[in-house]
Amino acid sequence: MYKILVKINFEYAHRLLHHCGKCRHVHGHSGEATIELMSPTLNDNCFVMDFSDIKTPLKQWINEFWDHAYLAHEQDPLLPALRAEGMKIFTFPAEPSAEIMARYLFEQVVSLERPINVQVMRVTIRETCTGIASYQRDDIEQVYEI
Ligand SMILES: [Zn+2]
Repeated sequence: MYKILVKINFEYAHRLLHHCGKCRHVHGHSGEATIELMSPTLNDNCFVMDFSDIKTPLKQWINEFWDHAYLAHEQDPLLPALRAEGMKIFTFPAEPSAEIMARYLFEQVVSLERPINVQVMRVTIRETCTGIASYQRDDIEQVYEI
């Protein structure tokens, strides 16, 4: 099994509404998304797929929706005031944690066009140098045994 990784950096602000500690305050991160794709075969260029074919559309999506945005729980009471100020906002039906972001981005990657042999394996969000979360296929262990 072959594997490739692409990384995309972006800046965002968020807060966790129900967190008892400092994460309930609005704060920012220089985040990094890592997308891992795998394939049992290579194309004519001996690639799983061209890095740019996954990175370009995904970077466009992140730039449009997440980069320099306030990522928020849809019930965040700050939203009306921020919307009134024209702030860039992206909402989730849950806390905007790195885990939720990883799962959301995983679904975005799955929806992108890619060769039929290429599967999305894992999406990881690095929130800080020491705080990292990922979402991966449920059957990843089985896939590795192929
Ligand atoms: Zn945070």
